[in-house]
Amino acid sequence: MNHGRDNHPELRDAVRSLCAQFDSAYWQNVDEKRAYPEAFVEALTKAGWMSALIPEEFGGSGLSLTEATVIMEEVTRSGGNAGCCHGQMYNMNTLLRHGSAEQKRKYLPKIAAGELRLQSMGVTEPGAGTDTTQIKTVAVKKGDRYVVNGQKVWTSRLQHSELMILLTRTTPLNETARKADGMSIFLVETRSKGLDARPIRNMVNHETNQLFIDNLEIPAENLIGEEGKGFRYILDGLNAERILIAAECIGDGYWFIERSVKYSRERIVFDRPIGQNQGIQFPIAEAYMEIEAANLMRYKASGLFDRKQPCGAEANMAKHLAAKASWEAANVCLQTHGGFGFAAEYDVERKFRENRLYLVAPISTNLILSYLAEHVLDLPRSF
Ligand SMILES: Cc1cc2nc3c(=O)[nH]c(=O)nc-3n(C[C@H](O)[C@H](O)[C@H](O)COP(=O)(O)OP(=O)(O)OC[C@H]3O[C@@H](n4cnc5c(N)ncnc54)[C@H](O)[C@@H]3O)c2cc1C
Repeated sequence: MNHGRDNHPELRDAVRSLCAQFDSAYWQNVDEKRAYPEAFVEALTKAGWMSALIPEEFGGSGLSLTEATVIMEEVTRSGGNAGCCHGQMYNMNTLLRHGSAEQKRKYLPKIAAGELRLQSMGVTEPGAGTDTTQIKTVAVKKGDRYVVNGQKVWTSRLQHSELMILLTRTTPLNETARKADGMSIFLVETRSKGLDARPIRNMVNHETNQLFIDNLEIPAENLIGEEGKGFRYILDGLNAERILIAAECIGDGYWFIERSVKYSRERIVFDRPIGQNQGIQFPIAEAYMEIEAANLMRYKASGLFDRKQPCGAEANMAKHLAAKASWEAANVCLQTHGGFGFAAEYDVERKFRENRLYLVAPISTNLILSYLAEHVLDLPRSF
């Protein structure tokens, strides 16, 4: 099936042929061992896809966010899990849009060459998930450095990244005019003294950590943009993240549909393929429609982002629609496979688990609905 693949055919073909080297057995093996898919990420880096968004002057290929989403979509559509590598795509936008010329000169060529990875972002804290303004991690300026203390949680890919984007408070909450003021972001070298990461075992094979920060010293020149405006920069980066995740969900969605169609044509019960029954066909057809519709919003959002136009509503809607549609497709795929859907060798149960994350992270369903209600529909503010 080639549905939804009518744009960027050469890019798709190139990513697909790379992904084809990492088959079911590869993903099952890393999933079973809870291992980081290092060989896959290394191959993606060598082929230049991990530096897709870096401008050519810094050694990258200078692709648009739309093209980056195509790369991520092909990864999940091939049966892989893009959670191991999508961080570099969305973190890159924060550095590209808000980083200084010096930061770009220092880090981008090395990231483009694959010597460094910028895969990790520390925003969430044990006491501050959805309500980011409540973060307690504090950075205090002392001469030419900031000294940081606090704690983060769910800091993903930290163990496989040399750089991270870290959100901290630089002005206490009770001294700011607005809750979103007084936060700053830094580019942090993850091997620095003062960082202690402890892995969190979770439902999927997703390298993620509790992060204890004890007198971490960050050179002042690693502050991104202006002090106190970090939350705004993070939100800008989160739009890219939402659009990329939407594309990953679309890739998952097509994977579930393709698997459902294939299996339901082959599986014979009562002397006929189960796919001959409308009770099997209709849920697949419905899930397919929803994926196609969500895909339109994904391209609308990425187009706006690439033109540097406001895209908060579209990025949120794309992520929400794609996460829901792909989850529906996952459910249909599992049901279509009957008992075999639960057997690891079919990959369905793994993809089912991997896809479920996106209704919760990086932003949960309720918060998207609340954003739309308040900011798009002008309903009264609820919190
Ligand atoms: C595998 C994984 C990887 C992650 N990776 C990263 C990462 O790399 N970096 C990072 O910073 N974070 C990461 N996260 C964290 C993720 O962004 C948060 O889990 C997410 O933002 C939700 O925060 P929370 O878990 O604290 O939920 P909470 O804020 O505790 O909310 C719990 C539930 O209540 C709902 N809720 C809260 N308030 C309201 C309200 N007013 N109205 C209605 N519903 C409400 C939420 O929608 C949610 O469903 C990751 C999480 C996971 C699971």
